[in-house]
Amino acid sequence: MPADLAEIQAACKDCTRCDLAASRTQVVFGRGDPLSDLVFVGEAPGAEEDAQGFPFVGRSGKLLDRLVLEEIGLDRDGFFVMNTLMCRPPGNRDPLPHELDACRGWFDSKLAALDPKVIVTLGNFASKALLETSTGITKLRGQTYDWRPTVKLVPTFHPAAVLRGNAEAMAAMRADLVRAKQVLAR
Ligand code: SF4
Repeated sequence: MPADLAEIQAACKDCTRCDLAASRTQVVFGRGDPLSDLVFVGEAPGAEEDAQGFPFVGRSGKLLDRLVLEEIGLDRDGFFVMNTLMCRPPGNRDPLPHELDACRGWFDSKLAALDPKVIVTLGNFASKALLETSTGITKLRGQTYDWRPTVKLVPTFHPAAVLRGNAEAMAAMRADLVRAKQVLAR
């Protein structure tokens, strides 16, 4: 892990910037290769992530890992995954605006240290938050966005939507991952 990212991880592990600190088991920082050009961003940790300390470790994570391997050719150690929020909202409710604001400093510092070429946002919440729009994921996906001068953003569905048996979401997610692979290769 790059030294600056390790410093951020050490600094945020006891964070109390928002009230989620009181109910979390632990801060869920991220998993995977911090040197990868590809970073996935989801919403917030769920129960399994809160318990294990890593994002996307449940069924959604396993599906994500499988689709990335099949469409991009990277195994789970070949990319980095993180969430917009690092602590689990109680009852898996949506993150609140003030929680997102509180965690934004950590999020921006992490992304600056990771310095990815491509960010893939997973689902409605992360896509809307990063693109600062009220437009939903169904309309946002299917395109590549210039997110920062050196970073492209590819929004796609959350793997949980695919797990609900939505065949269209599965096909769309595969197409979005192929799009991300093409942008990575440029
Ligand atoms: S969600 Fe972010 S800001 Fe809130 S306590 Fe956790 S690490 Fe700190």
